[in-house]
Amino acid sequence: MKILDNIFLIPSSVNCYIIERKQECILVDTGMSKKASGIIKIINSNFPDKPLKAIFVTHSHQDHIGGIETLRKLYKPSIVAHEEESPYIEKTKELPSFKGLGGIMIKILDKLMNLPSLKVNQKVKDNEVVHGLKILHLPGHTPGTIALLDIENQALFCGDIINSDKKGEIILPPKMRFALDFEQALESSIKMLDESSPSVVLPGHGYPILEPEEAIEAYLDEYKPK
Ligand SMILES: [Zn+2]
Ligand SMILES: [Zn+2]
Repeated sequence: MKILDNIFLIPSSVNCYIIERKQECILVDTGMSKKASGIIKIINSNFPDKPLKAIFVTHSHQDHIGGIETLRKLYKPSIVAHEEESPYIEKTKELPSFKGLGGIMIKILDKLMNLPSLKVNQKVKDNEVVHGLKILHLPGHTPGTIALLDIENQALFCGDIINSDKKGEIILPPKMRFALDFEQALESSIKMLDESSPSVVLPGHGYPILEPEEAIEAYLDEYKPK
């Protein structure tokens, strides 16, 4: 489904976004491993002449990175992630576990999916611009969580920094039970929305917010400390 002229949403429990550039395409998150075939179909039928050049990883949770291995074998894209998140993707470090049901669910998903270590080719920092996307380091959900701002059209890819409702009208705070540090995650979400004027807000879960001005205002009204 087309969100903007050059952005396609591949919806399911985790949203992935394909960005079409002049000579290539770029993917933001991959979803679970079984979703890779759907992504391949969309790339091959919509952009047969535009190779997948890069996969941006908003964070290391398995449901966002499960498709990397299949896509990498086929297209050899560069894998891009924040330098603080890369050790969890490359499996040189274990993501700190947290208490409660969310922590248990993430551990179970980890075991079930049992992903191999995935090499990160480009380890990025806050404010860097890569393939036309500005990196915004916004920790809390995980230590190296990033959002991506498309310089060309100000589309904001948010990963799990915020959520949205099913109609794409309301911005919801990060899920407490899946955040490593909820206070920090909430702060990051406020910073992200306060410091950018996105044309569209594209969350990792929930429906894209295509006219976000009012929703951002309402969110900051409710959550930004007065
Ligand atoms: Zn997550
Ligand atoms: Zn998620």
